[in-house]
Amino acid sequence: MRILVTNDDGILSPGLDSLVRVARRFGEVFVVAPDVERSGVSHAITLTEPLRAREMGPGCWALSGTPADCVFIGLNHLLPSRPDLVLAGVNRGPNLGFDVLYSGTVGGAMEGTIQGLPAVAFSLVSAGTFPFAWSEPVVDRIIRDVATHSMPDGVMLNVNIPAPDVAPLKGFRLTRLGNRFYSSDVIHRTDPRGGEYLWIGGTRVTMESAPDADTGAIHEGFVSVTPVKPDLMAREAMPALARYDAMTMPPDSAASLEGNR
Ligand code: MN
Repeated sequence: MRILVTNDDGILSPGLDSLVRVARRFGEVFVVAPDVERSGVSHAITLTEPLRAREMGPGCWALSGTPADCVFIGLNHLLPSRPDLVLAGVNRGPNLGFDVLYSGTVGGAMEGTIQGLPAVAFSLVSAGTFPFAWSEPVVDRIIRDVATHSMPDGVMLNVNIPAPDVAPLKGFRLTRLGNRFYSSDVIHRTDPRGGEYLWIGGTRVTMESAPDADTGAIHEGFVSVTPVKPDLMAREAMPALARYDAMTMPPDSAASLEGNR
């Protein structure tokens, strides 16, 4: 098996080393990861500046871009052939609930999904020690599963692993995204040269504790496995919004609708 590994904490992150170590048990591993931390960049791609890839070793590149850039450039330029699997992580911290919309880890894996490959995002949830080596058997178990079963089309797995300082490990649970809200603190300070700056500082989190939600399962000691997909279409809202399909312009409007249907 050929595996492409990326992350959003950057090429020097111990979580990346850990994921690469486990992935190597399953085949040939290529690494394309951001040269600096890119947490919170979501699925952003870089269109307005050049991307520079620095070869750090055989099959390993540090890219001056986002995790999604890494997967795109890796698949379409750096790798000698198409991989069978895209992995992202192991992230230093949770990617639960609405986090998946902000997460560069999920963004990187999701680019793999968009490129038609099975993909998994791994995150380690810890109160502060981040025992990546401890989480390796869990990562191994998931990769082993993904390698032997096919993934539903257009779906990736978002996996959160609770470290022992969160809860003793009880097993695995298939979950839905829970509700999760950060405190809305904005830190306003003055820099050493007298300029003012703002820093988004919401670190206090409130979240849903339902056992079937990723936010709840993790605190009960379950590895949370949530299927997520790039398709954001709200199909269930279509009937309630059907009026848009027949919307007209007021007769006295300057704009005209010629042959729109
Ligand atoms: Mn991160």
